[in-house]
Amino acid sequence: MEKYLVSLDTNKVKNYVFATNKLKEIVGASSLLAELNEEITIKCAKKHEGKCIFAGGGSALFVFYKKNKAHDFVAEIERTYIEKTKKATIASAIVEIPQSQEENNFIKALNQAEKCLKRKKANNNPSTNLVYLEPYFEPCHHCGNYPIIKHIELNDNDLLLCEVCFTKRSYALKVENENLRPRKYFIDYFSKLNQGLKFPNTLEELGEMDRSNGYIAYIYADGNAFGNFIQKHLDSEEKLTAFSEILKSAINTTIAKSIEPFIQNNKFPFIPVLIGGDDLILITPGSRALSIANNFLIQFQQFLQNGLRDKNLDIDATQLSMSMGVTISHSKYPLLSFHDMSKSLLQNAKSLYQDIYIKSGKQISTVDFKVISSSTSKSLDQIIDGEYKLSKDHWATCRPYPCFEVEGFSRPTFTNLLNVAATLSSKHFPKNKLMRWKDIVYTKESINALELISFGASLKMEEKILMETSTKSLGLATYKNLFFQENFLTTDYFTPLIDLVEIFNFV
Ligand SMILES: [Zn+2]
Repeated sequence: MEKYLVSLDTNKVKNYVFATNKLKEIVGASSLLAELNEEITIKCAKKHEGKCIFAGGGSALFVFYKKNKAHDFVAEIERTYIEKTKKATIASAIVEIPQSQEENNFIKALNQAEKCLKRKKANNNPSTNLVYLEPYFEPCHHCGNYPIIKHIELNDNDLLLCEVCFTKRSYALKVENENLRPRKYFIDYFSKLNQGLKFPNTLEELGEMDRSNGYIAYIYADGNAFGNFIQKHLDSEEKLTAFSEILKSAINTTIAKSIEPFIQNNKFPFIPVLIGGDDLILITPGSRALSIANNFLIQFQQFLQNGLRDKNLDIDATQLSMSMGVTISHSKYPLLSFHDMSKSLLQNAKSLYQDIYIKSGKQISTVDFKVISSSTSKSLDQIIDGEYKLSKDHWATCRPYPCFEVEGFSRPTFTNLLNVAATLSSKHFPKNKLMRWKDIVYTKESINALELISFGASLKMEEKILMETSTKSLGLATYKNLFFQENFLTTDYFTPLIDLVEIFNFV
């Protein structure tokens, strides 16, 4: 019997989803793509007698037993993407799976399909999707790319939108009113406990749920080298299908468990922007973000392992880890700046993951974060050079953080940092004293010994004891040591004090 593998991948997902700065359009775009990917594509494949191996995160994989059916399916789904979104397109590859007795036929076909998709995606020229804008048409007020076709009257200002933005916006309203994916999972998950749970719909609403003056956080996470893992461990259709289901459920369950402690007044403490494949974007109240982030990264492997065990897949979940970038700022800070900063932080966290992996062979989840309290337009690289780098081997930070201890690696874990901040905060350690301690980091080495003595003299006995226990769990010998030397990845000196002060209001 002949057999064909059909591989699909949405073109330029992030360009489509983040084409405007508006939460509604971003949520609408992301949810519309998820519906196309996880529901419409699967239905369409079934209609053409295809079997789904997985669908998620904008890509999908199917098996067909007739060549013409595979081609009919691809033609129909390509058309559907344009019809539904007016803009987003999907790339496809059809590869025959050899039916010889040889091993690894499936993996070989999968690799071939992947190469073919990569080539097609590289040739996908966005200008071919552009509508020609006549000079006498006024362009859309949100994306600026297409002519205005809709005038929506709102309370404070009217919206003049193109067809693409209008489609996203209309879908967002459907997501909000009917709790469509990615919200549906959480409504169902908590339905036994609480029937009336609602999602916040605006950034202001999330900001109001924050203890510290309208701050929100943009959490961006991504799996570390999941592609390599799949190549190595999932060599058959059956294993890949089972694993995709387990991964989807593990990610959703981990999110649900991570946010559960912060549900208040019948409201979810987050807006899910994108959940698909190993990709994750959530927006939360500022003061909840770091705990939610840590809960997620600490528990993910456990929920994944539970799922693998339930489905009798003999795979060790500690071989998979995730990295995360978290930006905390005021709800008025531009959404695309949140996105860009979290993306840079995620990349930074990923390089720490990579360094640890190369050195120790261990898969360790990592996180980087930044609190932005003024309207800065600095990039993360500028912040690292301007704020963190004190000299060629001294750093005013320990970021990014590992989520678990690594033997020989002396930086504190993210849990250590959060626990110390939470203890100091719950014991009402005076913020001004913490600030003074932090400021000594920036003074010249010749003066800071004196400064530390006078700082020590200003502390009450119970404050001194609190400082000693705090510094110990952060890897500093005493509170009079501002830096520790790290001999695992570098021989540089690091201090966690700046990080501690930065997150003090957000634990
Ligand atoms: Zn537009």
